[in-house]
Amino acid sequence: MTDHRQVVIIGSGPAGLTAAIYTARANLAPLVIEGEPSSDSDQPGGQLMLTTEVENFPGFPDGIMGPELMLNCKMQAQRFGAEFLTAKATKVDVSSRPFTIETSVGQSVTADAVIVATGARSLMLGLEAEKRLLGYGVSTCATCDGFFHRGFDVAVVGGGDSALEEAMFLSKFATTVNVIHRRSELRASKIMADRAKANPKLNFIWNSVVTDLVGDPTLEAAQLKNVETGDESTLPVHGLFVAIGHIPNTNVFTGFLDHDEAGYLKTIGHSTFTNVEGVFACGDVQDHVYRQAITAAGSGCMAAIDCERWLESGN
Ligand code: NAP
Repeated sequence: MTDHRQVVIIGSGPAGLTAAIYTARANLAPLVIEGEPSSDSDQPGGQLMLTTEVENFPGFPDGIMGPELMLNCKMQAQRFGAEFLTAKATKVDVSSRPFTIETSVGQSVTADAVIVATGARSLMLGLEAEKRLLGYGVSTCATCDGFFHRGFDVAVVGGGDSALEEAMFLSKFATTVNVIHRRSELRASKIMADRAKANPKLNFIWNSVVTDLVGDPTLEAAQLKNVETGDESTLPVHGLFVAIGHIPNTNVFTGFLDHDEAGYLKTIGHSTFTNVEGVFACGDVQDHVYRQAITAAGSGCMAAIDCERWLESGN
């Protein structure tokens, strides 16, 4: 069965849901292909579904739980007529208009315009305890969660620019920031490395990997193994930040949308237009710099407005 829509939004994090609210209120009756729950911490609602309390989204002076914020955004979009399909987009054909989107549930949809808001995901260590403790001491975002660790010891895993950036930010709150790196040399740029090494709150733990995490219901310690000596140790920490890289969710699009070397989609100038007319990109799928819920929501709004104006101009 093929359904036709003026606008199909792929992805249901802050970017996709904001685009849904705006396009729905513009009477474009969008269909949101919201993703589907999968085993590897990937589900409708995006990265905020894996977070506990969000304290930096404007409008919530007492904070709000990540999943509740996403549910509110979804209900807000539904109130204005957005519809949701619980499925993943498996193939998008932009060779002719209307575009065709095939989904994991067998239903295909045609669309006059497509807004891509599939986000990015953090690479994780792959430990069983990491899934259980995500949002309970384990985090992938120091900007989001650093504040919760004021006066405590924390750890950052990774040796790249992201890890050092997270560590430097955390040093404003934490007593000691342990940087756990699997080699004896940083991957980060020299300027970042020099700055980090000069920070007295940072303690580098070289040649080491995290083998397990301890604590229930919240994180209490990380089990470490020195990969050179085989020595094992326990590092008590209140928070552990995984900063070993991100991957944009762009597999379905990289065949026809311009992207950078890491796979992030390219948009034109300050707009959300991609190289394919009628396809717009917003949120973390095209932003490897800010990666915040509020910046994703802002760019979702931009995509909806770009899309609405493009449709209105007779395309
Ligand atoms: P990255 O440069 O790929 O670094 C990832 C780090 O994580 C590496 O040190 C890597 O170790 C480690 N790692 C990877 N998998 C691991 C695992 N399973 N267990 C333990 N450690 C693991 O990623 P990034 O730091 O996110 O940076 C991505 C890009 O963005 C880079 O080009 C970076 O320069 C840029 N960036 C720039 C800035 C800035 O300029 N302010 C800030 C952030 C990011 P190895 O070193 O052993 O491979």
